Amino acid sequence: MHKSGFVNIIGRPNVGKSTLMNALVGERMSIITNKPQTTRHRIIGLLSGDDFQIVFSDTPGFIRKPAYKMHSAMNAFVEGSFEDADVMLFVTDPNEKFEAEDPIITKLQNVSYPKLLVINKVDVFSKEIVDTYKADLSKKIEFTEIIEISALKKQGTDVLLNTIQSLLPEGPEYYPKDQLTDRPERFFSAEIIREKIFLNYRDEIPYSCEVVIDSFKETQTNRGEALDRIMATIFVARENQKLILIGKNGLAIKKLGTDARKDLEAFLQAKVFLELTVKVRENWRDDDKFLKHFGYTL
Ligand code: GDP
Ligand code: MG
Repeated sequence: MHKSGFVNIIGRPNVGKSTLMNALVGERMSIITNKPQTTRHRIIGLLSGDDFQIVFSDTPGFIRKPAYKMHSAMNAFVEGSFEDADVMLFVTDPNEKFEAEDPIITKLQNVSYPKLLVINKVDVFSKEIVDTYKADLSKKIEFTEIIEISALKKQGTDVLLNTIQSLLPEGPEYYPKDQLTDRPERFFSAEIIREKIFLNYRDEIPYSCEVVIDSFKETQTNRGEALDRIMATIFVARENQKLILIGKNGLAIKKLGTDARKDLEAFLQAKVFLELTVKVRENWRDDDKFLKHFGYTL
């Protein structure tokens, strides 16, 4: 019998959803930083064996008070993930407090497929705190199973994986078995650049940038090594953000480019020539056309 299914990962921003998906899929699939809202789209990761295939999807964290249309679009990805799941992973950590009427709680109470409570970051909380937290949440929702993990240290992730496998319905191969993700290299290249923006800039800057790959060409150096030529545009929402991004004498953008190139080379297994351009697109986070064009469904 072949088992397969869609396993959707939801939870508040910063609880470790992307770290968990990477731990489960075994590749650096989704960008991870210590700032919330780094995941803006749904990202699919695939884990296949001879007799099973799991299609994971990592969602942006649910934003309780959307401030931009972009936020509403991010929430729509989360809403969508309730509809097409075979198993739901609700990831949280003992720092997160939930009221009974929290929208995620209400939605979880109403789903009919198996739902797992995944308590993450147990490496930094005492057993007492974890136990109390567990007891509290299971009063609000009846979970199929509760599993404690540290996604970062890969503790408990095997147990979680076995549980998921046991809950998968019988089903087909949705994707070729050697495929790791449904997203092309271009998408990950943009995500890697975006991750470096998160790591190199502060305050509102990372949240104001969108990275678009304008061209991606696989070529060779004259010594015959693989060379990828990538041209990318970073859109910012205001003129002063462009100045900050570029920095004095262009030093900041130069460092960003170098950091991104190094990671891109490791990810693409090729030498990379990266050209970054910064453009102002006033208030793009509220611009319907811009959002639609760049894959946010409104
Ligand atoms: P997401 O917003 O839910 O996708 O969260 P991320 O996966 O981006 O992780 C947010 C932060 O939590 C990062 O700094 C991670 O390194 C950290 N983190 C994730 N899992 C764990 C864990 O098991 N233990 C600890 N101590 N930190 C973790
Ligand atoms: Mg994430």
